[in-house]
Amino acid sequence: MAYLTLKNINKIYPNGYHAVHNFNLEIEKGEFIVFVGPSGCGKSTTLRMIAGLEDISNGDFLINGKRANEMGPREREVAMVFQSYALYPQMTVFDNIAFGLTLQGVDEEVIEEKVKHTAGILGLTDYLDRLPRALSGGQRQRVAIGRAIIRKVGVFLMDEPLSNLDAKQRVTMRSEIAQIHKSTGATTIYVTHDQTEAMTLADRIVVMKDGYVQQIGTPYELYYDPANVFVAGFIGEPPMNFIRGTVQQGKIRFGANELSIEKKLGAKAAQYEGKEIVFGFRPEHIELGRTAGAYQITADVELTEMLGDNTNVYVTADEDKAILKVDPHDTPEIDSTITFSIPVENVYLFDGETEFVIK
Ligand code: ADP
Repeated sequence: MAYLTLKNINKIYPNGYHAVHNFNLEIEKGEFIVFVGPSGCGKSTTLRMIAGLEDISNGDFLINGKRANEMGPREREVAMVFQSYALYPQMTVFDNIAFGLTLQGVDEEVIEEKVKHTAGILGLTDYLDRLPRALSGGQRQRVAIGRAIIRKVGVFLMDEPLSNLDAKQRVTMRSEIAQIHKSTGATTIYVTHDQTEAMTLADRIVVMKDGYVQQIGTPYELYYDPANVFVAGFIGEPPMNFIRGTVQQGKIRFGANELSIEKKLGAKAAQYEGKEIVFGFRPEHIELGRTAGAYQITADVELTEMLGDNTNVYVTADEDKAILKVDPHDTPEIDSTITFSIPVENVYLFDGETEFVIK
C-alpha cells in the first residue's frame, strides 16, 4: 500500500476558482516528489491540501490507506518549510531549532541531543549561539529546515524553500537538501517552478499546468519520454526546439528544408497528411554536419553564446528559428550558413491539435 494517496483531488476556492483538477498520485515512503510548473498552476494549493492547511473540495487524501481529509495538520504528522523562513530574530540558532520541542515540553537533555544531531546534519554546529541576523541567507534557510526535521514526522513539505537565496546559494542548498534527504530518508514533497531543481532533486516529478497534472515520472522519463508539447518544452534548458507545420506530401518545412514525417513515423505518417504537426528536437541532440540517415537542416547563424562548457548557437531559416548546443571548439561564425543533423531517435513528433506525443 502506498504511504500517501491522492485520489481525484480537486480544489475550488470560495470565489469559485477551480485551482486543482483531478489530481492523482501515490507516494511511497521515503520518496522525494517534486511538483513543478509555472507560477499559478496549483502546486502550492495541492501542497497545502496535503498539509491540512487548505480544505480538499473533492476527492480523497489517504495516509497509509486511511482517509485523512478531515485530519488536522498535527495528526497528519507533516512538517512544512515555507518560502519565507520566519526565524525568531531574538532567539539563537539553537533556540530556533529547538522551538517546537520546547513548546511540547520535551526534556532539556533530549532537546540538546536532538538539536546537536540536527545541527550536525545541516552543518550548523558552529553557529548554534548566533542570532539569525548574523547568518547568511543559506544558513538561515538551513535553520528553518532544521526546525522542521528535528520533529519526528512522516512527511516534509517544502514550498519553494530556495527562492529567497541568490543563484550560488541555491545550488549549494540544493545539494544540501539532497544530502539531508539521503541521511534522513524522509518522505518529501517539494514545490518549485524551477525545472533544474526538480530534475536534480526528485525521485519523481509531477509536472502541472493550469491546475492539471501533465505528466508524472522520473527525471529520466520526463526528459526522454515527454507526454506532450508542454512537458517537452518545460523540461530542459535551453528548451526543446519546436517546428510547427502542416504536413504536405509527407513533409513539413523548416525554412527551405523539408522534414519527412515518414522517416520517424513509418506507415503511420499517412494519417497526418494535411494535419498540423509539431516537430521537436533538443538543442543538445544535434550533430554539426551531415550524418547519414539523420534529419538534415541548413540554416544561418544569427548569434552565438559561449557558456564555457558549451556554446548556444541561434540559427534561422527564413522565419523559422532554433537553438543548438555545440562544443565551444566547434562554434560556427556568426552570419555563416551551417548544416546540422538530428538523429531520428532524437526527434519527437506531437499532434498539432492535441499536443500529445505521437508514437
Ligand atoms: P502555484 O503554487 O503553482 O504558483 P497556487 O497553488 O498558489 O499556484 O495557485 C493556483 C491558482 O489558485 C492561482 O491562479 C491562484 O491565483 C489561485 N488561488 C490561490 N489561492 C487562492 C485563494 N485563496 N482564492 C482564490 N484563488 C486562489
